[in-house]
Amino acid sequence: MQLDKVYEPQRFEPVWAQRWIDSKLYEATPELGKPYFSLVIPPPNVTGQLHIGHMLDHTLIDMAVRWHRMLGENTLWVPGTDRAGIATQLMVERELAKTGLSRHDLGREAFLEKVWEWKEIYQKRIHDQMKRLGSSCDWSRERFTMDEGLSRAVRECFVRLYEKGLIYQGAYMVNWCPRCQTALSDLESIHEPTPGFLWHIQYPVVGHPGRFLTVATTRPETMLGDTAVAINAKDERYLDLHGGKVLLPLMDREIPIILDDIADPEFGTGVVKITPAHDPNDFAAGKRHNLPSIRVINEAALITEAGGIYAGMERFDARKRIVMDLEELGALVKVEPYTVNMVTCQRCRTIVEPLVSKQWWVKIQPLADKAIHAVESGAIQFVPASWSATYFQWMYNIRDWCVSRQLWWGHRIPAWHCKNCKEITVSREDPTECGTCGSVDIEQDPDVLDTWFSSGLFPFSTLGWPDDTLDLRSFYPTTLMVTGFDILFFWVARMIMLGLELTDQVPFRYVHLHGLVRDADRQKMSKTKGNVVDPIVINDKYGTDAVRLSLVLGAASGRDIAFTEDRIEAARNFANKLWNATRFIFMNMERSGVEPKVPAESAAPRFEDRWIQSRLQATIESMNSSLANHRYHEAAQTIWHFLWDDFCDWYLEVKKLRFTADSGLNDDWRALLTTFETGLRLLHPIMPFITEEISNRLDPDQSISLKKYPDASFAKADPAADREMDLLKEVVAAMRNVRQERKVELKLVLNATLKSDIPLDREVIESLAKVQFVEGATGVSWPGAGFDLVVALPEVSPEAIEAQRTKLRKEIEQLDKVIASHESQLSNETFVSKVPEKVLNGMREKLAAYKIQRQKAQDALDALG
Ligand SMILES: [Zn+2]
Ligand SMILES: [Zn+2]
Repeated sequence: MQLDKVYEPQRFEPVWAQRWIDSKLYEATPELGKPYFSLVIPPPNVTGQLHIGHMLDHTLIDMAVRWHRMLGENTLWVPGTDRAGIATQLMVERELAKTGLSRHDLGREAFLEKVWEWKEIYQKRIHDQMKRLGSSCDWSRERFTMDEGLSRAVRECFVRLYEKGLIYQGAYMVNWCPRCQTALSDLESIHEPTPGFLWHIQYPVVGHPGRFLTVATTRPETMLGDTAVAINAKDERYLDLHGGKVLLPLMDREIPIILDDIADPEFGTGVVKITPAHDPNDFAAGKRHNLPSIRVINEAALITEAGGIYAGMERFDARKRIVMDLEELGALVKVEPYTVNMVTCQRCRTIVEPLVSKQWWVKIQPLADKAIHAVESGAIQFVPASWSATYFQWMYNIRDWCVSRQLWWGHRIPAWHCKNCKEITVSREDPTECGTCGSVDIEQDPDVLDTWFSSGLFPFSTLGWPDDTLDLRSFYPTTLMVTGFDILFFWVARMIMLGLELTDQVPFRYVHLHGLVRDADRQKMSKTKGNVVDPIVINDKYGTDAVRLSLVLGAASGRDIAFTEDRIEAARNFANKLWNATRFIFMNMERSGVEPKVPAESAAPRFEDRWIQSRLQATIESMNSSLANHRYHEAAQTIWHFLWDDFCDWYLEVKKLRFTADSGLNDDWRALLTTFETGLRLLHPIMPFITEEISNRLDPDQSISLKKYPDASFAKADPAADREMDLLKEVVAAMRNVRQERKVELKLVLNATLKSDIPLDREVIESLAKVQFVEGATGVSWPGAGFDLVVALPEVSPEAIEAQRTKLRKEIEQLDKVIASHESQLSNETFVSKVPEKVLNGMREKLAAYKIQRQKAQDALDALG
């Protein structure tokens, strides 16, 4: 039954991971009406491999799942992967570019074949990595957002929303990435203040020679598409120009002067140029005043034919030319530095072009209302609760959701345009003719759906929706969603809205939002910074259990995690400690002739048994309550403290004294083994591998992961035993202090007399503290709370005492010098005024420490007489 001599998790972790899968341990059986715990994975994108953030997701989820399974609930964790949209297509396009080809060279079908090939490779890689992590998910239910069932769910969702009037097609202003050639949602674009310029341009007023209106713009190239200038009706400077016109420079086009509040008399000249085709605010103003919209920049960011002599120029080249031409014309009044709100594509960082284009939209308000109510009513709870405020703020200000993307990779929009009557046919089955006029001259919309449209259905599409499956009835609504706060709006909010709309139920009851994993300096991990931690490399080095433990310990709710190798090393040391303790126990079991199994229960417990049971009881209560409240880091701290400090450092040290060869299965063994095995079960959800490896030696027939999680009935609180152990620990600590202060060798047994308030097991203290209790010892008196200790110190030769005296005097002399120099510096006003407060505080702390050290040396010298 012996364990390997050295803790080498690399030897047994992959073996267990595979064995759990082979024996289908975590495959769930749907059962109506049975208490269940279910959740779906935040599906990783098939764009690469798992990163450390995924590992945090998986660790927290697996902890919750293993705990609930051990509580006896019908437990299901659905694994899967997401197609992702732009990200995946970009990766494949980049690969293709290496061979000098673009997706257009290949054509839609051939290109999609390439993406599917890519997906197969990366999905398999992610799948293998997840298996290695020991995630206890149900692999028989693994899903991909573009597999047949999930695609049918997407189509059903689109058709239903369309039929309810919640999906429409319309021309609106979108953020367009000229590189990715697609519309981006607000969430897919990055807004950041960037230094730029404000160009002031004079527009001559028609019929008022010598009179100009001056506009200021951060994007002079858009002036080519101006269709009005706006002034405020209350602006007295321009009262006489109401109903007038200006001449657009460079284009020589007359455009009206309109009255609109978009022009603020207090800001700049109070005149605003209006370009409805290229600015969201101007787009709205254009609608208000029925202005024409002239598109002067196209999807490739080139100036269109409507841009006159600038047609065909790249937008920023055109800007330079236009500024030069304005200058030559004398129309450029001023250029000043100005901070602009730069919008870039989140994927490729190309500067976004606001364009008016025809897109598909989800009318979001009716969906958002239900989603707000679900959180207000407590049907869905956020952990930590503070996230609900952020959620409400976003939901109250939500705008219609642009769901079409001009990509090839994704769910194609199930809408067919009729070339004959121009009507649209939206259908669950591919139509062969127009639903309005019956013409066969119809063509499917070329766009695909936003990737969050399909992942937003994940909690129920994976369970068989839209069919009324047994899985859906047994496991839906799911219980919990665990994910990073960074995708609260991208994903969590969409799941809530779509779940409520389509299933009339919340998709999950709890949302646990964890922080991001950062590096040791709390910097965000990124490939460019080179501080990315590869979970597979780190798992191979330290073992998955240790990485899991260190991640959980760092994951205090809501806070980001500083991930350092020191912490993983500490977690590995914990595993190592448990390993060595186990080896020690197993060795002594063999020596005592104890069978390798856990006995039923113990009788006649000793004080240490009653104490460890009491500690166990507190630990069990605390663990269950922490896990129930999603305070995973707390649970990890609790079990660490119990196994390391209570069990290994005290209980096992006392129990060592009870081990005898050939004792057989006595009460000591019964108590120790039941406690030990209960501790393993408590630890299992956090460190599944080491606990399975050890538990297997005691019970090869059943996986620890299917055993019952300890509850309050497993142990008994015993305040008397707690007091007794506390006092015993203090006496042992006092003996150790005496030894240290008087520099007495550790192995030397000292005579002592002990009086204590309650009777203590003296044999145990004698053995742990290397002491022999006698009547009436004389020497150092060492009183403590609840006890009186007198320790007889060993005889020391006069020469040794004198040597010690000399040493102490020298120490005092040196300390006096250092103290004097610190004091003089700190009382020197010039010095104090020049040195930073931080440094001064450091000096003050040091000074205090030197003074304490000096006092101790003086005391020791006085004690020598
Ligand atoms: Zn882009
Ligand atoms: Zn038609």
